[in-house]
Amino acid sequence: MGCPCAGSLLVRAFEYHAPPAGETRYTFADGQPYWREVCRCGACGHFVSRHHLDEGALYGGQYVDSTYGDYEGICRAHARVMGLPPERSDNAGRVQRLIEFAAHYWGPRRTPRILDVGSGLCVFLTRMKAAGWEGTALDPDPRAARHAEENVGVRAICGDFMAVDLPGGFDAVSFNKVLEHVPEPQLMLLRAKECLAPGGFVYVEVPDGEAAAAEGPGREEFFIEHLHVFSAASLAALGERAGFRLRLLERLREPSSKFTLRAFLSI
Ligand SMILES: [Zn+2]
Repeated sequence: MGCPCAGSLLVRAFEYHAPPAGETRYTFADGQPYWREVCRCGACGHFVSRHHLDEGALYGGQYVDSTYGDYEGICRAHARVMGLPPERSDNAGRVQRLIEFAAHYWGPRRTPRILDVGSGLCVFLTRMKAAGWEGTALDPDPRAARHAEENVGVRAICGDFMAVDLPGGFDAVSFNKVLEHVPEPQLMLLRAKECLAPGGFVYVEVPDGEAAAAEGPGREEFFIEHLHVFSAASLAALGERAGFRLRLLERLREPSSKFTLRAFLSI
């Protein structure tokens, strides 16, 4: 797991011997004590996390269990987040920006189709559906997929994005806070390319490590689930190395206080 820019100089920026406040507690293999480090790329400012936590613990049911509880917990969390006023909702800003971009990029288009990878609570697709888009949710957790179908009323695919059979022809593929969780984010972008219709684009949101680092190692952008924390340069490099053209890159501070980078990539 290296830097998206292919730079080879990674220098330790932060070291942790205990979880920072607010981080989800996971069980380390063999009862090992908590330890991890976050290293920064000397070329592009990207951050890579290193630890000895079992990967399965992060991506299996434990993530949903510890974050939302059971299926009913997902439904309650969805209702609570949907109830946020627009000025406090990260999703409202995300949907508005995506729709604005699409309008400039395509002009008017009837019912665009979007695949949301790592749909989770599915608040994003709930809002995209309300805006007239046809959404497809993809999530490895069967509870999240069931919630997308039963409560949100979108098509759902349950499985690993890299392994599951996927329909093609999507006008857009979105990765909302997903690529920072996987060892090789470039492979996910390459897969997304296969699902896109001609003229389609990819929407990516990732944590902004440059802005977060200025506030120190305790920021949520550097929590243990994030194997990669991006810089503007590394996000641009990631897209380009996957064969995309960078159309727009923005940094923002979200209503939830997260430091975030967003990018639109086209083929
Ligand atoms: Zn780099």
